[in-house]
Amino acid sequence: MNLLQKLFGSSSVRSEQRVYTFSVKCKRCGEVIQGRVDLNNDLSEDDEIFHTRKILIGENRCFQRMEVELKFTPARELIERQVTGGEFI
Ligand SMILES: [Zn+2]
Repeated sequence: MNLLQKLFGSSSVRSEQRVYTFSVKCKRCGEVIQGRVDLNNDLSEDDEIFHTRKILIGENRCFQRMEVELKFTPARELIERQVTGGEFI
C-alpha cells in the first residue's frame, strides 16, 4: 500500500502540510529569505531518502547564493538540513 495514501487518504491532514517551508538568513547581508518545498513534486528518492536542493538568492544588492539541501523520510519527515551561505532561522 502506498504510504502517502495511508497517511493522507482518510485523515484530516490538510493539503498545505505537503509543503515544507523554511527561512534562511543570508550570511553576508542578513536578509531573510523564505523557501518552500513541495513534498509531492520537488523530492528525488535515493535509497529511501527523499532529498531536494534549493538555490535561494535574495532581493537585495547582495548576490550571495544560499544553497539549501533537505532530506526527508518516506513519510516526509525532515531528517537533515544543510545550508551554505546562510543559516536557518
Ligand atoms: Zn545577502
